Amino acid sequence: MASAIATVETPVAIKATRLLINNRWVNSESGRTFATTNPATGEEIAQVAEADSADVDKAVRAARAAFDARSPWRKMPAADRGRMLGRLADLIEQHADELALLESLDNGKPYQVAKAADLPLTIACYRYYAGWADKVQGKTIPIAGDYFCYTRHEPVGVVGQIIPWNFPLLMQAWKLGPALATGNTVVMKPAEQTPLSALRVGELIVEAGFPEGVVNLLPGFGPTAGAAIANHMDVDKVAFTGSTEVGHLIMEASAHSNLKRVTLELGGKSPNIVFADADMDQAIEGSHFALFFNQGQCCCAGSRLFVEDKCYDEFVEKSVARAKARKVGDPFDPSTEQGPQVDQAQFDKVLGYIDSGKREGATLLCGGGRWGDRGYFVEPTVFADVQDNMKIAEEEIFGPVMSIIRFKDMAEVVERANRTIYGLAAAVWTRDIGKAHAIANSVRAGTVWVNCYDVFDAAAPFGGFKQSGIGRELGEYGLQQYTEVKTVTVKL
Ligand code: NAD
Ligand code: MG
Repeated sequence: MASAIATVETPVAIKATRLLINNRWVNSESGRTFATTNPATGEEIAQVAEADSADVDKAVRAARAAFDARSPWRKMPAADRGRMLGRLADLIEQHADELALLESLDNGKPYQVAKAADLPLTIACYRYYAGWADKVQGKTIPIAGDYFCYTRHEPVGVVGQIIPWNFPLLMQAWKLGPALATGNTVVMKPAEQTPLSALRVGELIVEAGFPEGVVNLLPGFGPTAGAAIANHMDVDKVAFTGSTEVGHLIMEASAHSNLKRVTLELGGKSPNIVFADADMDQAIEGSHFALFFNQGQCCCAGSRLFVEDKCYDEFVEKSVARAKARKVGDPFDPSTEQGPQVDQAQFDKVLGYIDSGKREGATLLCGGGRWGDRGYFVEPTVFADVQDNMKIAEEEIFGPVMSIIRFKDMAEVVERANRTIYGLAAAVWTRDIGKAHAIANSVRAGTVWVNCYDVFDAAAPFGGFKQSGIGRELGEYGLQQYTEVKTVTVKL
């Protein structure tokens, strides 16, 4: 499977590389910049301004001023906020090709996938929340006595948002959509690996007419810019997506600063359970997708693949054949299914897990090494005979490494599926509706897919049980995380 990818000329102009504060593009206070690289080649694409705590202070001041009760943003009718979000969705749609190129270049995901999945989901998310803007309302409550009591759902205030690199445009939309629909102002830090698409969207945000200070974008690193947001005394809430390890740091920062509200979307080790009575071809293709989609870099990847004893051998054989057929290569080649991992650190981490699988006695049936001779490509890898206590079955790999585990019956698989610190997602493949619902009801996870995987919609909430997170994103539930409830009581 060895090959080298052709040198791709930068296929898209890089326009926005600075910080967006108060609707102006500025250098960082320190003047420092950092390189963002193309993971397919390891080469630098562009230098990007590097924010740190001084820039966070500046952006928080801008966001606070934009949140002032007399500001244009706060005085704007809710329906106008919705129209602005709708205009942003339209602009992203008009620039969908360009944004998909940027996403592919900076992240390494196949261009076709960015165009077919990331962009439509991003646009749909902004449109969905555009529709909510003027439909967020409180209740009237019949309390005892001669009073009129009602609730108002008010914006939380200045919201810090820290997002990861695996779905840069989509994670930006999941965060900005509900925050802006409900009238908050935002200081957002894109991931250092993939700042380019978020900054290009920043230009479209200005073009869509959002008032100055409403959205501020600060590319930079976690321990500096990210930590400054999490620790800031004038940030009212922080929403974070990324590793469970950093999720703990975000909560600590909140506890040690101003008890800012915290919502977290963290890691997972999601059980994907295949019963022998499933449509086998569908289960094999669906489980392949569940694990390998996005180079395996999904928080909800079906990375503990439990397969019933009775169909285990057939399932393993066909899954290995499918993985061997997976087309790895140049993200801009239309036939490519799998691009590179996002950076050297992720590449090294994935290869480290493959080594540990071999050392702990799992059976390596295909892949296991680097693909090609440059960039961060990893061969589609399948391990069979994986035991629950192996590292590859317990820890998040975030790469194209499938672990197939054997099980005998329902009670046993439920107990084993739940024996994890995580609880993000789960899936079950079966033709028996009773089994499907038994799994759906007993697995402790925020999302359960039945005979499907990775079905996302802006209207359906997503988030984790246990250490997979706090709170929900998307849907009506996602809105609740961006408002404070105020009770007003009037003596009649
Ligand atoms: P990370 O958690 O370090 O990074 C996610 C975001 O948090 C980035 O924007 C980063 O700059 C920021 N960050 C890092 N340290 C911070 C800090 N101390 N304070 C505030 N913000 C901080 O993730 P990573 O190092 O890029 O990847 C490591 C692992 O995390 C992956 O292998 C994977 O297991 C997991 N991960 C999960 C998701 C997800 O969607 N849930 C996304 C990316 C990575
Ligand atoms: Mg990059």
